[in-house]
Amino acid sequence: RAKEEGKSTYVVYDKSMHTPFNERMNIEKHLRSAMNNNEFELHYQPQVEIGTGMISGFEALIRWNSPVLGFVSPLSFIKIAEDSRLIIYIGEWVLREASRFMKSVHDRTGIPYKISVNISIIQLLQDDFVEMVLDSLAESGLEPNCLELEITESIFMESFESTVSKLGFLKSRGIRIALDDFGTGYSSLSYLQQLPISTLKMDKIFIDSLEDKAYSQSFVQTIIILGHKMGLDVVAEGVEDARQLEFLKQFDCDKIQGYLISRPVPERGVWELLEPHY
Ligand code: C2E
Ligand code: MG
Ligand code: MG
Ligand code: MG
Repeated sequence: RAKEEGKSTYVVYDKSMHTPFNERMNIEKHLRSAMNNNEFELHYQPQVEIGTGMISGFEALIRWNSPVLGFVSPLSFIKIAEDSRLIIYIGEWVLREASRFMKSVHDRTGIPYKISVNISIIQLLQDDFVEMVLDSLAESGLEPNCLELEITESIFMESFESTVSKLGFLKSRGIRIALDDFGTGYSSLSYLQQLPISTLKMDKIFIDSLEDKAYSQSFVQTIIILGHKMGLDVVAEGVEDARQLEFLKQFDCDKIQGYLISRPVPERGVWELLEPHY
């Protein structure tokens, strides 16, 4: 597997390895018809600015309710969608749907909330990726600086230069780029420096470690300082309790996302969260 994915000889931990072969085949089969059958839905999880306590944006997270398999977690089907390349179509639908919805939120509230969309490396490797993003943006009428594309450290695995140039171009058009799950992959700091990003999303692992040991706190604090020195916005993922928030506030982290604020919610949940603003 690792070899297939490029020059790297690292063996990457693959969440779908937990899924037995038959089950993977079964998921893939049903995934093929899921798009046409409208089985996908997006949920949205708010991000809150620590300084003001206000919602600044949302992350779009895909949900699949299959009539045959029931609810299937993205943790098990995204990898299968990538291996079968179905992610190209699914990911494009996510981008268009999330942009459309966020534009309707802007129109109703008058507030330019950001929308973050997870992008798979398979999508990025498509020749027409840049065109697809610009087209979907134009179609929705969303402001470029309200769209944030979340990429992971897996982009370090292949075609680094062409990927960086695509992201750099989109960033020059005002679109924001976030590095998701920061700290869990194998990015080296020298690569980090070359990436055209606007936001660092610190993985939940670091947030969970906050209460353990003093050095974990120094670690988190240092990541935040590094991000700020690089001119990046730093977001903490998976914040579940008030004590974690206290540490993050003390360390000058910009934003938090996590169950402490809200779980990912469907559209009507977004309207409820924003109720005071329209
Ligand atoms: P991610 O992009 O890192 O998204 C954050 C995940 O953490 C989400 O899981 C979210 O529900 C969960 N989470 C947020 N706050 C908390 C918290 O306080 N505690 C805990 N325990 N979990 C929290 P979800 O929705 O199951 O998605 C899992 C992963 O699947 C995402 O991780 C992302 O890598 C992938 N994914 C989801 N939607 C899409 C999509 O539309 N496209 C692509 N390519 N990948 C997606
Ligand atoms: Mg994400
Ligand atoms: Mg993440
Ligand atoms: Mg994650």
